[in-house]
Amino acid sequence: MDIYSLARPNIRNLAPYSTARDECQVKIGSFLDANENPFNNGYNRYPDPRQAELKSLISRIKGIPVKNMFIGNGSDEAIDLCFRVFCEPGIDNVVSIAPTYGMYKVAADINNVSMREVPLGKDFSLPVEALLAACDDRTRLMFVCSPNNPTGNAFPLDQILRLAGSFDGMLVVDEAYIDFSSEQSLSGYISEYQNLIVLQTLSKAYGMAALRLGLAFADERTMAMFANVKYPYNISLAGMEKAMGLLRRDVSSEVALIMSERTRLAEELAKLPRVRKVWPSDANFLLVEVDDARGLYGELLDAQVIVRDRSKVLNCGGCLRVTVGTPAENDRVLAVIGGLKPESVVEKRTATVVRKTRETQIEVTVDLDGKGTDGIDTGLKFLDHMLDQIVHHAGIYLTVKASGDLEVDEHHTMEDVAIVLGEALIKALGDKRGIERYGFVLPMDESKAMVLMDLGGRIEFVWDVTFTREYVGDVPTEMFWHFFRSLGAAMSCNLHVSADGKNDHHVAEGIFKAFARALKMAVRREQFSYSLPSSKGVL
Ligand SMILES: *Cc1c(COP(=O)(O)O)cnc(C)c1O
Repeated sequence: MDIYSLARPNIRNLAPYSTARDECQVKIGSFLDANENPFNNGYNRYPDPRQAELKSLISRIKGIPVKNMFIGNGSDEAIDLCFRVFCEPGIDNVVSIAPTYGMYKVAADINNVSMREVPLGKDFSLPVEALLAACDDRTRLMFVCSPNNPTGNAFPLDQILRLAGSFDGMLVVDEAYIDFSSEQSLSGYISEYQNLIVLQTLSKAYGMAALRLGLAFADERTMAMFANVKYPYNISLAGMEKAMGLLRRDVSSEVALIMSERTRLAEELAKLPRVRKVWPSDANFLLVEVDDARGLYGELLDAQVIVRDRSKVLNCGGCLRVTVGTPAENDRVLAVIGGLKPESVVEKRTATVVRKTRETQIEVTVDLDGKGTDGIDTGLKFLDHMLDQIVHHAGIYLTVKASGDLEVDEHHTMEDVAIVLGEALIKALGDKRGIERYGFVLPMDESKAMVLMDLGGRIEFVWDVTFTREYVGDVPTEMFWHFFRSLGAAMSCNLHVSADGKNDHHVAEGIFKAFARALKMAVRREQFSYSLPSSKGVL
């Protein structure tokens, strides 16, 4: 088969960009040819544009020769390259099954290539003859996703091979979910069928969605054209290193658990009255037809379970697509669809600490995801005012009740409030303390305050603050040193405080506000901030 004649003439004849490393493959020496910063920090040099090391590792795992392999910034890069290599914008067309993965159509639109969508059978079967009939002499690509997203089914190998054998363009088989399938991969057929491009990914079974690594396997001429068209350094060194580490981990037990959970989830869902049909799945998700998909989607969302509403997709009326999660997550899906109202999945970050000594009785309650207070009363008006700053500027819920031997002096109350507050904060944070350092600098009129906080578990206290008066309100200024030193120790954190200004009230207030702002950063819970919650475990 003449693959070059299928490619666009400009791509076939392309003189690709030649990198410094393409032009000189010497391994050792002074590399003064790529305008890099010469000082080694691990990442100052350009990465291998051919990804030789990662490819040879994947080659061993998948049994595909390196010359038949392309690694992209996710499968999406490989999908886009199929268009850029084979389709003349405004002239050529492609054929795809429907419904299927939405990126083929988006990539077609971006490349100004028209797409002919051929509906699957009512049972989601592959319409082999209709797909072939939809082609004409300008059809360059045909997309078949197997197992298909969102229907979940894999198509029989012989049917896909029949397409490969009869179609005069490039057949792109997207096997993103092949590791969950009982059907065989087509990757073993790329030498027999030179017009076959098999897409796989490290995003699903291999658990590396965040690294963005997609794979294509095909005839070496196709892969050579992909290599010429891709951006020279499309995969970062950090991504390659991380992937090589993770690829040495065996995911087979995770995949096996996902597959057994898929069976359990399908069986249990099928018993529920609101479920009309659970489609058979060769992937790590289930397409579930329910009564009132929109309403149930909302109920799941209220219970903090996020699924994909596919009810507007062709032939998927009433369907939700549910990814198979952990056993506990799957239990939760079953509970909600079964009509139960499970408790919040988001762990509460609250704590109450009570401390009673002969000198003081103190009770502090914090909710890091709450807001406001049910009262702050330490008997020291100025301290109350300062703790109020933490409530507002950290954006947390905080209640402090303290009574102490203020008739003796303020010392015990200040120090014990700081200890109990610190213990309550750290208890509410649980084991989700990051090793990150947080800090905040705050100008307040003529004063400025800076607080640096490091929740890494070491305790060091640095205090660079000078007050000019003996008291601010009813609090002796020397007590702020005691307060923050005790607070930092109780939180097991490094705490650096510096502040200056003419007005002691502003200086003290600035310190409390800057502390509150640093705390706000430290306790923030965000979807894309993976490092802070759970993943690192206990420090
Ligand atoms: C998830 C998925 C992919 C993977 O895309 P990446 O860009 O590699 O993360 C590819 N194809 C289909 C059908 C998918 O569902």
